[in-house]
Amino acid sequence: MAVHGIDSITGGMMAMHTTRNRTAAPGGTALAALAVAVAAVVSVLASASASAQRPLDGSQAASYVAVNAETVALRGITVLDGTGGPALQNQTVVIEGNRISAVGAAGQVQIPAGAEVMELSGHTVIPGMVGLHNHLYYTAAGGRAAQLTYSAPRLYLGSGVTTVRTTGSRQPFAELNLRAEIERGSVPGPRIHVTAPYITAGGGMSTMTMLESPEQARRFVRYWAAEGATWLKAYTNIRSEELGAAIDEAHKQGIKVTGHLCSVSFTEAVALGIDNIEHGLPTNSDYSPGRAEDECPSGLLASATQVDVASPEVAATFKAMIDAGVPMTSTLAVYELFFQGRPVQDARSLDAMAPAVREDYLASKAQIDETGYPVEWLKNAMAYEKAFHDAGGVLAAGVDPTGNGGALPGYGDQRNYELLIEGGFSPAEAVKVVSANGARVLDVFDDLGTVEAGKIADLVVMTGDLTADPSAIRNVTVVFKDGVGYDSPKMLEDVRGRVGIS
Ligand SMILES: [Zn+2]
Repeated sequence: MAVHGIDSITGGMMAMHTTRNRTAAPGGTALAALAVAVAAVVSVLASASASAQRPLDGSQAASYVAVNAETVALRGITVLDGTGGPALQNQTVVIEGNRISAVGAAGQVQIPAGAEVMELSGHTVIPGMVGLHNHLYYTAAGGRAAQLTYSAPRLYLGSGVTTVRTTGSRQPFAELNLRAEIERGSVPGPRIHVTAPYITAGGGMSTMTMLESPEQARRFVRYWAAEGATWLKAYTNIRSEELGAAIDEAHKQGIKVTGHLCSVSFTEAVALGIDNIEHGLPTNSDYSPGRAEDECPSGLLASATQVDVASPEVAATFKAMIDAGVPMTSTLAVYELFFQGRPVQDARSLDAMAPAVREDYLASKAQIDETGYPVEWLKNAMAYEKAFHDAGGVLAAGVDPTGNGGALPGYGDQRNYELLIEGGFSPAEAVKVVSANGARVLDVFDDLGTVEAGKIADLVVMTGDLTADPSAIRNVTVVFKDGVGYDSPKMLEDVRGRVGIS
């Protein structure tokens, strides 16, 4: 049956083709000329994309460049390539222009003449991380909020995050303009997928759009798609009617929708056609018995995180998501902040905060150690993500630099890696979650997300063996983006005291 169906479609297309050729015959010369012109344009585009987009001379971006050769070879390095395959020791990775041209064992890969060779024994390389919940704003203890147009792009790129989705915007034009500056080669930073302002219903935060009708949802989506947003972010109080309309209109405009849900459960959002779901267990109201339609139950984090992850109810959520191809975004670094007895992991984060922000954060942290949620609930949220992954779901990750301010852009993405390891992922799996899976969600996997020949050269080089020591992910030395190597420590040094201000 299926074969017969394909045959008839092919036959039909061939028939159409023949007919068209016949009717088009008089204009054949013009069409041929057009075809030549199109081919010429295509080949110009292909050669343009083959060389790296180098930072503009004298720009802020240029001030961080450490490696800027046309051909570069990383030699003697351990590769965790993002495919989920095992780590490979003593590898050679060749970059030509902006692409990886070869990856293989030392002695099996020819290093092109004239290449700049970096001797990197004792180092690990992973793909550029893809952060799926990576705001360009920051909120912190004491009601603080700031757009981090200066510090966030440096923190992300310097930490090895070469692609971000902003996943909810407070100042969308600041983000669209920053994206343009980065693409121009003027300012350092990751590739940016801009998300529109949040959509919710009454009771949301003051920077969000409180949708009152499906018509308003559609108008909102058309406007932001036209301005250059490629994702929408639904927030906790949104009603199903407006969410459904927003998703439908987004798909008509060729953009996608994710959500930090509550009033609509995970399975309800999947039925409405959502493309991605943020945060995992603490925000899923699938397990709130007696919940009214469009009701966000109070105390959801406390109730949801006590659900048995091996229960049939959880299996039903995963089946709905996996059958519909809906990935989940892990944001463990921001959740960790609300649980008792978790260490202040990262002196670099405290140094990066403005002094008053640091003071309020540390006070908040001390309070949480006394009265925060019990750590078992965090462990259960981790187990939920591992179970989703093991069931065949696509789990990606992002930092979400909000809450009391302890999860910083970039540093929090690195912390996500460590927390995935704590949650039972192998190093190869955790690298895949923070790189390849994010690239899949953003539909850029053909170009990004793994260390493989043919991919764009977005690479994170760190000292140490990441397979033996998860904290090696903090020791980034050089980050390649589009084939250009940036000096990570220099970039990170420049944000000292700036987080919470600029
Ligand atoms: Zn968020």
